[in-house]
Amino acid sequence: MQTLPFLIDNTWSTGSGKPFDSINPADGSVLATVAGASAADVNAAVVAARKAFAAPSWRDLKPHDRASLLYRMSELMTRQQEALAVLQMQDNGKTLSECRAQVASAASTFRYYAAACETFESPVTPSRGAYWTVTLYEPVGVVAAITPWNSPVTLEAQKLAPILAAGNTVVLKPSDVTPMMGLAYARLALEAGFPPGVVNVITGGAETGQQLIEHPGIAMVSFTGGTATGRLIAKTCGAALKPVALELGGKSPNIVFADADLKKAIAGTAEGIFSGAGQSCIAGSRIFVQQAIYDRFLEGLRQYAEGYRMGEPDQADTRTGPLASFKHRDHVHRYVELGRSEGAQVLTGGVIPTDPALRRGAYYPATILAGVSNGSRVCQEEIFGPVAVVLPFADESDLIAQANDSDFGLASGIWTSDFSRAWRVARALETGTVWINTYKQLSITTPFGGVKDSGIGTEKGLQGMRVYMHSKGLYWGLN
Ligand code: NAD
Repeated sequence: MQTLPFLIDNTWSTGSGKPFDSINPADGSVLATVAGASAADVNAAVVAARKAFAAPSWRDLKPHDRASLLYRMSELMTRQQEALAVLQMQDNGKTLSECRAQVASAASTFRYYAAACETFESPVTPSRGAYWTVTLYEPVGVVAAITPWNSPVTLEAQKLAPILAAGNTVVLKPSDVTPMMGLAYARLALEAGFPPGVVNVITGGAETGQQLIEHPGIAMVSFTGGTATGRLIAKTCGAALKPVALELGGKSPNIVFADADLKKAIAGTAEGIFSGAGQSCIAGSRIFVQQAIYDRFLEGLRQYAEGYRMGEPDQADTRTGPLASFKHRDHVHRYVELGRSEGAQVLTGGVIPTDPALRRGAYYPATILAGVSNGSRVCQEEIFGPVAVVLPFADESDLIAQANDSDFGLASGIWTSDFSRAWRVARALETGTVWINTYKQLSITTPFGGVKDSGIGTEKGLQGMRVYMHSKGLYWGLN
């Protein structure tokens, strides 16, 4: 099998690091052998990106011309939607229907930031003397973008589009578990016509990531991934006084009050944790249910979970494909075993499938744990799989205390028919996003980010582009 190269300075290279395999988690086959970037390759990518940042072909490009390149990315993605969706499905195991939707969403991210790029304004601020003052927003320089494996096509678009719209150059390092979309973005950027060195994509693991963020030519780090890695990255960036944006893990409470529409709440909370096999930072993994409806809810959720068909990700009736890797599937299963040892009842799921059709892949069923307190490890730690922990609560104040008793603060959901309660609880929850009578709806126009151990900074919306810019105050004397 030929080694797939990465892209530095608009040139494909197999570099001098150790190649590695990308595995299709649906059957364990090798999808591709991918080049590994060495320290020398990391350096070459950063040097190319620095040169491109200063080159007139990028620096002097007017915002509407920069926008044209981003529109072109969006058009190319729309045209190649099916091929890109199949590629992500093979690399990551998500269902084909979810991959199609994610490619469409990623294409719209490039469109949104193209529009933002050409309509972006610099405010003239009130003067306090004989001068004129304006706030200019300028690109920070070379941004290192580091991404995880759970939704590569959307998460990488969420970084590339605003970084480029803001006028920066970028070195993207996708996860070594799912390198294929990052390499697809490299090809798309070449096709779209970005000047050399503006978009560089290098492939490799943690060591490559560490070398990249430590490089003195990197002006800013934008990271999405686990909280433990985020802490390490923050430490490195802190020592170098490099700005850093961190989108990290979650253990999101999804809350059902007794006055909720039960059928919708069951479907909404089930989809909130089981869709994408629970490998989502915003998965509603702690489900809080008011005592009066606890038993009825639990029975409804169990039935829903048992109807959640596992299967080949390209089959139309498949609700959930395999997890992204065998290693991760085993990690999820260990958490279920830990839950058992903490006294949890496993209401459904909790076993690695032995069915011959599923045995070849990294499958894991929708699993429900109950009977543990919010202080248990399965309630406090991110499992990142299709595992819901269901907990009862007595009243609003008990609920708020339990829901906020978490190191994480990424997202939350509330199911109720009482709008003033929805408002009160939404204001009291310590999370970056709150959904009311819906869950996991996302729009590129709305800022997204975590509080507490779930991150620092905001992606999406206009703020998601400003994050990659310095503000410069300019005073122009009038005397
Ligand atoms: P991870 O932290 O293991 O890896 C993420 C990326 O960081 C990978 O590209 C990896 O190679 C790289 N990396 C690892 N160590 C590094 C280091 N020392 N220096 C630089 N780079 C390094 O995370 P993962 O297992 O790939 O992804 C799952 C995690 O991502 C979950 O915790 C999930 O909640 C989180 N996530 C968060 C969001 C969000 O928006 N908040 C979105 C998706 C996923």
